[in-house]
Amino acid sequence: MSEATEHMTRPIPAPAISIETKPFWDAATEGRFLIKRCTGCGKAHWYPRALCPFCMSAETVWEESPGEGVIYSYSVMHRAPTGPYAIGYVTLDEGPAVLTNFVGVAPDGLAIGMKVKVQFQPTEGGPPVPVFAPA
Ligand SMILES: [Zn+2]
Repeated sequence: MSEATEHMTRPIPAPAISIETKPFWDAATEGRFLIKRCTGCGKAHWYPRALCPFCMSAETVWEESPGEGVIYSYSVMHRAPTGPYAIGYVTLDEGPAVLTNFVGVAPDGLAIGMKVKVQFQPTEGGPPVPVFAPA
C-alpha cells in the first residue's frame, strides 16, 4: 500500500489535565467538545482558560460546540515510526483556532480551507483527545 492511500492514525499520549481544563476533559470523556466564551467581550477562545485572552476578564463560561470548522494550516510528518501523521490548526466556526491532529484522511488528502469536524481519539490512561477528520 502506498503512503498516499493510507489513512493517518497514531497513538496520542494522555493529555495533561489542570483545574482550568478539567471540565473540558470530563466533557470529552462523554464525547462533547467544549470551548469557552467570555461574557465580558463576547469572544470565544480555545484552549480553555480561566481568563479571557482578549480582554483578561475572568467572566468566562463553558459552551458546547459542534466542533466544526476549516483547516487553517497543516503539516504532514512523514518520518514517524507509526506512519505519517498531520498536525495543524483548525479555525472553528465560533472563531477560535485549535491546534490538533488530523485523522481519517490520507496525507495528500488535506487542504487548507477543507471542512472538518471534531472526533475523540482514546489515549493510554487518560481522557480521549479531540482530533479532526474531514466533515
Ligand atoms: Zn473577553
